[in-house]
Amino acid sequence: MIGKLINLTLVFWLSSFLAACSQEEVVYRDELIAFGTLVSFTLHGVDPAQGTEVIRDVDLMFQEQHKNWHAWQKGQLTELNAAIAAGKSMQVDPSIIHLIKLGQSFERNSIGLFNPAIGDLLRLWGFQQDEAASGPPPAKEKIQAWLKTRPSTFDLEFNGQTIQSNNANVSLDFGGFAKGYSVGKAVQLIEEHNIRNFVVNAGGDLCIRGRHGDRPWRVGVRDPYVGTGILASIELEGSACVFTSGSYERYFDYGGHRYHHILDPRSGEPAAHSASVTVIAGDPTLADAAATAIFVAGPQQFRIIARRMGISDVLLIDNNGNAYLTPGLKDRLRFEQEPKSLEIVEIASPDPESENE
Ligand code: ADP
Ligand code: MG
Repeated sequence: MIGKLINLTLVFWLSSFLAACSQEEVVYRDELIAFGTLVSFTLHGVDPAQGTEVIRDVDLMFQEQHKNWHAWQKGQLTELNAAIAAGKSMQVDPSIIHLIKLGQSFERNSIGLFNPAIGDLLRLWGFQQDEAASGPPPAKEKIQAWLKTRPSTFDLEFNGQTIQSNNANVSLDFGGFAKGYSVGKAVQLIEEHNIRNFVVNAGGDLCIRGRHGDRPWRVGVRDPYVGTGILASIELEGSACVFTSGSYERYFDYGGHRYHHILDPRSGEPAAHSASVTVIAGDPTLADAAATAIFVAGPQQFRIIARRMGISDVLLIDNNGNAYLTPGLKDRLRFEQEPKSLEIVEIASPDPESENE
């Protein structure tokens, strides 16, 4: 009797195990705080023991990156910026050289609309601090004085791992693309553990791999006008990253105006024409930088910047609620709410001259 019961229990246990394997794959979920955002992980086919181990490695990597790359919390980058301001040279971690070189290619391909050397301007506006900026906006004369300094990542000179600058006003801020780079490194690390179906989501900026069980992954694009609403959804599978730059991320209201954190290096003011830009690309660093650059470009210039940066899937919402969408993305994106108007924007094939590393 007991033997039969054990057999039956075993059969039941085996069959439910097989059912679990075939239908409901085990899913490991975890989250941590990095770059001031909640980063969440969804790993399919991963048990808690393996999941905990992988995410612990990712966390250690994020902490190291935070220490080296933060634009205002004391670390290597703030030290480097202080050395540049003092006209001195400094030896840095190879990762900083690598990020500067990536930044140079984004600056060149965006014709300077994306410029990681504008740290002083970001500080002037109050966007380089842990507390939310509150205004007032900087005096016009201060912005004019900053514009004359014309800082560029191309003012930097490298001698091995030592950096010096021809321009003491260069102040590096990797805020427009370091999150993308870090997400890319996390993806690499997870793949090295032979995990094939997963999402790394850093505050809405994410990379997907594989599939969500027997379906593609479904990704929501936030409505820039309604804090928590979803404007559109996109189905993705295989390998893709979705990055959004929005005026709702960091801003302050002052004297009836809203001032946000994506600055136009030509005017020294918040970029005037966009509310949000979503870019889909294979490379998360490029997707992050391009979303910021195309945001600055606005509806008038987005074709040329997207083409030069080698981007073909873009959704731009301007600050009147009009949508601009590239043909490649049109078929994969579904609006959950109709935008005020919709224009399909052709982008010529990527410029072979441009080089995004
Ligand atoms: P988020 O990281 O909030 O999703 P973005 O990717 O658009 O948003 O990055 C915004 C950040 O990029 C700013 O906080 C600032 O650090 C930096 N930044 C702002 N304007 C520019 C610009 N024109 N070029 C390069 N970086 C910029
Ligand atoms: Mg960005």
